[in-house]
Amino acid sequence: MTTLKPLSGCVAQYDPNALPVEAAQEIVRQWAMPRGQAQQVERVALFDALNRVLAADVVSPIDVPAFDNSAMDGYAFSGAALSSAAQSCTLAVAGAALAGRPFEGRPAPSECVRIMTGALMPEGCDTVVPQELVTREGDAIRFPADAVRAGQNRRLSGEDLARGKPALRAGRIVRASDLGLLASLGIAEVDVQKRLVVAFFSTGDELRSVGEPLTPGTLYDSNRYTLFAMLRRLNVETVDLGIVRDDRASLEKALREATVAADVVISSGGVSVGDADFTRELMNSLGDIAFWKIAMRPGRPLAFGRLWSGPRAGTGKLALFFGLPGNPVAVMATFYFIVREALLAMSGAARQAPIVIRARCSEPIRKRAGRTEFQRGIATRDQAGQWTVATTGPQGSGVLSSMSEANCFIVLEHDRADIDAGDEVNIVPFDGLI
Ligand code: AMP
Ligand code: MG
Repeated sequence: MTTLKPLSGCVAQYDPNALPVEAAQEIVRQWAMPRGQAQQVERVALFDALNRVLAADVVSPIDVPAFDNSAMDGYAFSGAALSSAAQSCTLAVAGAALAGRPFEGRPAPSECVRIMTGALMPEGCDTVVPQELVTREGDAIRFPADAVRAGQNRRLSGEDLARGKPALRAGRIVRASDLGLLASLGIAEVDVQKRLVVAFFSTGDELRSVGEPLTPGTLYDSNRYTLFAMLRRLNVETVDLGIVRDDRASLEKALREATVAADVVISSGGVSVGDADFTRELMNSLGDIAFWKIAMRPGRPLAFGRLWSGPRAGTGKLALFFGLPGNPVAVMATFYFIVREALLAMSGAARQAPIVIRARCSEPIRKRAGRTEFQRGIATRDQAGQWTVATTGPQGSGVLSSMSEANCFIVLEHDRADIDAGDEVNIVPFDGLI
């Protein structure tokens, strides 16, 4: 079991009240270990494997393709027929081979077989000349000698996947192509990691649930919806604990309940100055705190630590805890850049860094060195293929519409100061991330 000790070494190099984003990510990475393997595996049918994490390597039980076949519609023959110095090649057509209906027999060296894509290569044939390069002359074909080289346009058995070799690795998140690939191997069921369970709730006396009337000073709780959606996208199991009032007893009850129910607990709100005291107190009594604030905007107040379900820290069941800020954009930015990787790692997924693209900034951006900023951007590709990005406008961390309007985060690194128009910046596209 990890203890806080070796990690505090990591925190010690920094101000734990304002960790650089990379340092926070590193600490989270160390704490977010995959859950114990054996009891966390379940076998599912292929259609249910989509977006699940493979628990073991999938070894190919067969060669794919299972037999040499044609890559083109054309004529199959022995490449030896090309060796003569003649300008063109003439071959008699001995018959036809269709996908699923092989040619029976063995054509003579001076013969060819009409063949369709995917059809079994006839015995003795290793080359296919595409039909569009051929002139048909009665029962024979003629084509220029340089139309094809021996061995061309044939797919070899085992070319895609060789029997006995790993086709997909443990830790792989099963995507559309993988599902097809597994089917192509004739595999009907796979072992996947059980879903990670994540409990989440919102804190704030001002919050109302959708369906309730708004009274002066109240607003609708949107964070539970964004969190729900972001969690679903990662295919984790969600436990929605609703809105929790801003008092110690309610918060303690929610944290305890969440720790029992889930592997990871995520709250929003209640970690900024003023609210923070009992969250901090509770974390200290129910578990421990790794860090409290990140040098990140949006997202500065972010509590990360562990919670125990037992009467004291170190007893009962353990859950990781992320206390995200209340502001709706901060919730999303901290989820994507701090929480997401931890959830993937705990789910047993192989690490996959978000895709970063270089783009030219079309406008100046004000930025203070000493914190990482995640601004909302709209990236477009110009005719020369160059990416250009502009911000969505006001970057207040409560402006959730900026997330809906944007198609990327503009990542302004810790040490960077003001950006001039024309400067290059890194962007992280939402597609693939969200
Ligand atoms: P807090 O971090 O609790 O101080 O909240 C910061 C800001 O975010 C305040 O303006 C809150 O009203 C707002 N906020 C907190 N939680 C939510 C929520 N679940 N949905 C929408 N806004 C929220
Ligand atoms: Mg609050």
